[in-house]
Amino acid sequence: MLLEILNHKYQYEAEKLTRIFYPNEKITVVNEKSTPDSEAVLTTLFSDGFVTVEYKNENGDTLYTRRESTDGVSDKELLMAQMMFEALTRVTGYVPKWGILTGIRPSKLLIALKNKYGDEEGIRRFREDYLVSAEKTALADSVANAEEKIISLSVPESFSLYVSIPFCPTRCSYCSFVSHDMTSTTIKKLMPDYVAFLIKEIEATAEIANRLGLRLESIYYGGGTPTTLDEGQLADVIRAVEANFDLSKLREYTIEAGRPDTVTDEKLRIMKAAGVSRISINPQSFSDEVLEAIGRKHTSKQTLEAFDMARRAGFDNINTDLIAGLPKDSLDGFKASLDKAVELGAENITVHTLALKRSSYMGGEGTVAVRRNEETQAMLAYAYGTLTGNGWHPYYMYRQTRSLGNLENTGYCKQGRECLYNVFMMEECHSVLAVGAGAVTRLKAGHGDKIDRIFNFKYPYEYIDGFDELINRKQAITQFYNENR
Ligand code: SF4
Repeated sequence: MLLEILNHKYQYEAEKLTRIFYPNEKITVVNEKSTPDSEAVLTTLFSDGFVTVEYKNENGDTLYTRRESTDGVSDKELLMAQMMFEALTRVTGYVPKWGILTGIRPSKLLIALKNKYGDEEGIRRFREDYLVSAEKTALADSVANAEEKIISLSVPESFSLYVSIPFCPTRCSYCSFVSHDMTSTTIKKLMPDYVAFLIKEIEATAEIANRLGLRLESIYYGGGTPTTLDEGQLADVIRAVEANFDLSKLREYTIEAGRPDTVTDEKLRIMKAAGVSRISINPQSFSDEVLEAIGRKHTSKQTLEAFDMARRAGFDNINTDLIAGLPKDSLDGFKASLDKAVELGAENITVHTLALKRSSYMGGEGTVAVRRNEETQAMLAYAYGTLTGNGWHPYYMYRQTRSLGNLENTGYCKQGRECLYNVFMMEECHSVLAVGAGAVTRLKAGHGDKIDRIFNFKYPYEYIDGFDELINRKQAITQFYNENR
């Protein structure tokens, strides 16, 4: 279809909003009046104090047209988006639950509206101005309330540590992370060197944090799958963190053990002994057919076994990730997976929406038969109803680009089991000092709004080869704090 952007600067938002309704179609954006041949056209035009939105189908029939004065309108972009939403819901019959919101953090907008207009009026504007459904408004409000409590734990000297282990046993077909498949012998050979350099970076980063007098609040090992490290490597990394950072104020220590096929009794023992307080064991689905379709190369039985091993090792805060909208899954299949996670009693259940990123094997448009957006919406609605009805509450949420139906990822947890790191990081409460290949350090000092980033090399071999340069880049941490504290 053609999207005409005429006489205005809101192209980015207009395109994103249109994409929600046509996720798999080519949308050609033009900045002048077109004469299409057998193509639907959505026109957005600002002229003579009016905004016009018009939709013509491929036969040239006008299915929607509306023209509104912009006199006295403070947010013209909002008015245009509301009109586009009306046009597109009318011609497609599809009503996105998040209304015109296209950003990644809907609860952040809700917090801002509540702060500006008061709770009731803020919520009303969120619903009526941004056309968000009652269900998603309740979700965003619940998340906003939970997040505010966690945000208040962060003090000016706070920081979190992220340790990147970008390796996995195999690559999932939906994966868009920089994660290396351990079936490759080159990658396997690289691993000992990677761990050695990672430990050097941990030492150098800790020295900076200690010199600056920063306070470590949370640690998170992600990737990848950190438990792809063997027992000795895992113990070495954990020991390096323990020996170099001051853990006396630490509130939370998470290690993702996402792939059940990487979990062993010995790794669990090492983590538990080191004070790791939270782990992730991620089923994604409890259907073996679905797991095979997404290249997980493990069974649901292995997930259950890993979960059981973790309980026996003493872990009382376990996260399980599920994904809505996976190929070969169905609404009933998803419900069965969610019910299984509830039955297991995982303290955290994170429900993701499948995102078809270009960097994933599935990313090419049209290469997989994806669930209809409505079905994915029904999966998320089932998760929300079931989890909130059984003692979990939503505490953090974000949306990814190219997720089915522009839907969200939500972290649910039992009372007091919120993952602090997730909120600290998502809400940019304080600095995250990050180590390892592909890691990104985010710097934020005190109550200031300024955020700087330091990018580590993306791939493990670059990380090893460019290690000295990387350590030099880290000097920017000290400089940032000196200038912004
Ligand atoms: S386990 Fe996670 S990081 Fe690893 S390949 Fe699968 S999606 Fe990617």
